[in-house]
Amino acid sequence: MTRKTVLQLSGVERHYGQGETTLSILKGADFELRTGEIVALVAPSGTGKSTLLHLAGLLEHPDAGEVFLGGHACNGLPDAERTAIRRNEIGFVYQFHHLLPEFSAIENIMMPQLIAGLSKAEAKERAGQLLDYMRIGHRGEHRPSELSGGEQQRVAIARAVANAPRVLLADEPTGNLDPKTASYVFDALEALVRQSGLAALIATHNHDLASRMDRRVTIEGGKVVEM
Ligand code: ADP
Ligand code: MG
Repeated sequence: MTRKTVLQLSGVERHYGQGETTLSILKGADFELRTGEIVALVAPSGTGKSTLLHLAGLLEHPDAGEVFLGGHACNGLPDAERTAIRRNEIGFVYQFHHLLPEFSAIENIMMPQLIAGLSKAEAKERAGQLLDYMRIGHRGEHRPSELSGGEQQRVAIARAVANAPRVLLADEPTGNLDPKTASYVFDALEALVRQSGLAALIATHNHDLASRMDRRVTIEGGKVVEM
């Protein structure tokens, strides 16, 4: 398989004003993510992992530098186009699942597909397949509150990839789980990424999980460096 670069950060800077002073979090960060790979982003708290993921996911603008998705420079695009790219090409998973509490697992996974214009039947079929990939096919009718933490995160991952994005960005997705459950959730995530040819960048504090990913990067001096 040719490994195409799907996400590229080039010379990305991000500075936060803090009263009189400026906090420089990213200072010319470069990073490439290729099709089919899972990369761990491992760095201490406060070094800029979430900032980097938000920039990569077009939730924020860099102060300098450029973010490319599928080879297209995204910084100068109108907000509507950035939103469309985010919806179609990027899936997000957070530490907490953010599932809609009044809907079942299946319905939560159907939602982004219905917004994207799929029929109910199509959305339901794909949601069921994704639940199977995440090994929770039997839990589809349950609401989030009736699911365990690990199951909730697997539904959140399924929802994130429901519209077949190119890139999965995950911000400490297993940070709230015990090690054994974290490992199981990662197994399912990995199987999904391998099967779908997605690319994933996963911020984690879990060195055991990081060691199972294809590459590990960290943030040092405001730059992304290989570990
Ligand atoms: P991490 O995810 O690695 O813990 P973050 O990217 O959340 O780090 O934050 C990096 C640093 O930037 C922290 O010191 C944080 O306080 C600061 N920061 C993040 N977002 C903002 C913001 N919107 N305004 C000011 N400072 C921020
Ligand atoms: Mg963070």
